[in-house]
Amino acid sequence: MKLLEDKNVIITGASRGIGMGIAQVFADHGANVAFTYSSSKAPALELEKQLTAKGVKAKAYKSNAASFQEAEELVVKVLEDFDGRIDVLINNAGITKDNLLMRMSEADFDAVIDINLKSVFNMTKAVQRTLLKQRKGSIINMSSVVGVKGNAGQTNYAASKAGMIGFTKSVALELGSRNIRCNAIAPGFIETEMTDKLDEKTVQGWRDGIPLKRGGTTEDIANACLYFASDLSSYVTGQVLNVDGGMLT
Ligand code: NAP
Repeated sequence: MKLLEDKNVIITGASRGIGMGIAQVFADHGANVAFTYSSSKAPALELEKQLTAKGVKAKAYKSNAASFQEAEELVVKVLEDFDGRIDVLINNAGITKDNLLMRMSEADFDAVIDINLKSVFNMTKAVQRTLLKQRKGSIINMSSVVGVKGNAGQTNYAASKAGMIGFTKSVALELGSRNIRCNAIAPGFIETEMTDKLDEKTVQGWRDGIPLKRGGTTEDIANACLYFASDLSSYVTGQVLNVDGGMLT
């Protein structure tokens, strides 16, 4: 059964990793996918081709999620290209710039807050009018277990991800009466190309510490997004779902 037939979805940061995994699962479920990237043009165009081959509409856009103006321009273009409707927004774009607080520069703090948190404000503002007119919409924010628990060496990242949770709950309260839902996902340790580069012994140590004894896959996160994006979750808003193999339990 296809859960997102003919739904129009915007995913930020889908040129690799979790965003790419979400785009693929959503296209398999019949969604038309507009997605952004920051600099990975070739992989983004390749993904656009792969998604289109699944029989849905797909388009890659270069857009800096940290820029208020670029987010506004992006949504105008997506509305032109996707018949004036947006059903789902997934705020997934994110970066890390880890360091102990003692060594963290102001620039690294600001960059992480701007790309991870301010982007969520930018994009939510940009789609809000359309969702209000439709009297329906689902917004999904990609937080992290680090935003729930905190993590030494990641004060900037943890603050951005915890901020997303407060934003998510507030939007759920503000827009619930208009049938616009807003939820967050808190992934644990998800194995992507990025983690493939890490020392196998270190990664195995992380896996051993997780109750389900494995790292998550991008598909694990995409399936949680599928639930929040589809009508299966039509009575669920303002929630944070940990998708972490039991890591925080
Ligand atoms: P990733 O592989 O590094 O991919 C990040 C994506 O975001 C890329 O598509 C990148 O585009 C895009 N991006 C970066 N800066 C951007 C900007 N300024 N504007 C627009 N797009 C931008 O990351 P990931 O591991 O898939 O993580 C995706 C999300 O999940 C992030 O928010 C991350 O914090 C969260 N998360 C990940 C994990 C994990 O274990 N992987 C755990 C918890 C939470 P380019 O390719 O063009 O740079």
